[in-house]
Amino acid sequence: MDFNLTPDQLAFKQLAKTFADEQFAPHANEWDQTCTFPVATLKQAASLGFGAIYTSETYGGTGLKRQDAALIFEALATGCPSTTAYLSIHNMVTWMIDKFGTEAQRQQYIPNLASMDFMASYCLTEAGAGSDAASGKVTARLDGDHYVINGTKSFISGGGTSDIYLVMLKTGKVEQGAKAMSALIVENGLDGLSFGAKEQKMGWNSQPTAEVVFDNVRVRKANLLGKEGEGFKIAMAGLDGGRVNIAACSLGGAQTALNQAANYMQQREQFGKKLNQFQALQFKLADMLTQLNAARLMVYNAAHSLDINAPNKTETCAQAKLFATDACYNIVDDALQLHGGYGYMKEFGIERILRDLRVHRILEGTNEIMRLIIGRKFSQDIAHGKPFE
Ligand SMILES: Cc1cc2nc3c(=O)[nH]c(=O)nc-3n(C[C@H](O)[C@H](O)[C@H](O)COP(=O)(O)OP(=O)(O)OC[C@H]3O[C@@H](n4cnc5c(N)ncnc54)[C@H](O)[C@@H]3O)c2cc1C
Repeated sequence: MDFNLTPDQLAFKQLAKTFADEQFAPHANEWDQTCTFPVATLKQAASLGFGAIYTSETYGGTGLKRQDAALIFEALATGCPSTTAYLSIHNMVTWMIDKFGTEAQRQQYIPNLASMDFMASYCLTEAGAGSDAASGKVTARLDGDHYVINGTKSFISGGGTSDIYLVMLKTGKVEQGAKAMSALIVENGLDGLSFGAKEQKMGWNSQPTAEVVFDNVRVRKANLLGKEGEGFKIAMAGLDGGRVNIAACSLGGAQTALNQAANYMQQREQFGKKLNQFQALQFKLADMLTQLNAARLMVYNAAHSLDINAPNKTETCAQAKLFATDACYNIVDDALQLHGGYGYMKEFGIERILRDLRVHRILEGTNEIMRLIIGRKFSQDIAHGKPFE
């Protein structure tokens, strides 16, 4: 299918695909089974410009567009969705610091984030504040020229390993919700900063997930990102892009599983015929490919909506995330089914992709929260006499 990609986009995609084939795919099963976070390989990816793909070039970002980034994440995820998903979170944080940071913050952090000498985590979720992220209770109290942070963030990707934690917390009264939220850049190694045990997960095993615990952690006031009270807005701006990135990771995983299923059907014989000679199974493949390309169109379009700062970008990104992560999970499940019992075996790698893609329907806003965002905006537009665009 022709997606009207430019020659440059085709080149970025090919660069990422070659890297995924050579550096991710041969190791993805082992990283999953041994829970290995491939830091050296991620730094190699950064040397190709994948550490700060859509961050401006001023301090070392790659300066590409969101659509380019989606193509790159998709291509990388064909080799390992879990490792690529961490890279996408790192990219999201790097962009947030570039977009909302002061000149001094950008100068201080972007070069090291772009090279991945500093790795980054995004800290919004708390034990009691998941979908309702504005209800978080982690606080920062101003004391002279420092903030003093207390509380615990949960389920943080890269937790314990990352060097930089972008933490959304309350600088105002907790009950004020989103209005009281601010964003602080916290460096690893500060007194009072510690981490929970690595979570034991169904998938995403090539990256650590852990609690980030703040016990009177003192952070310079100069590390406030944006202004006090802007944290929720900053967190959500990051997530618009994050959702497109995660959806792109689902596309890559689904493409690998689909290709594997199609290849398997050319070899496997039952009832004296290759599986690909059964029309019921050809139809299945046709449906999988059609769903995948529909998901692609939505993801590329959502990325473009960010590139042009479209007024409806948030709903467009939410729709792409909802559709693509659900569709791609189902495609991988079908690919597993087409392998029969072999699909259930670790050696074939498809069950890993299924486990990795499962969480894309849960994080960066669950797919129920995507429906909430889409439905609420649609209702508002209708109430204001605006057709949905
Ligand atoms: C592997 C992994 C990595 C993660 N990485 C990060 C990270 O790096 N940084 C970070 O900040 N967070 C991270 N998260 C957290 C993730 O974003 C949250 O798990 C997610 O937002 C859901 O929150 P919750 O788990 O508290 O579920 P809840 O909010 O308790 O939701 C439970 C269920 O209720 C549904 N629900 C809730 N409210 C509504 C509603 N109003 N309408 C309809 N349905 C609703 C949800 O969709 C869900 O099905 C990660 C999670 C996982 C599993």
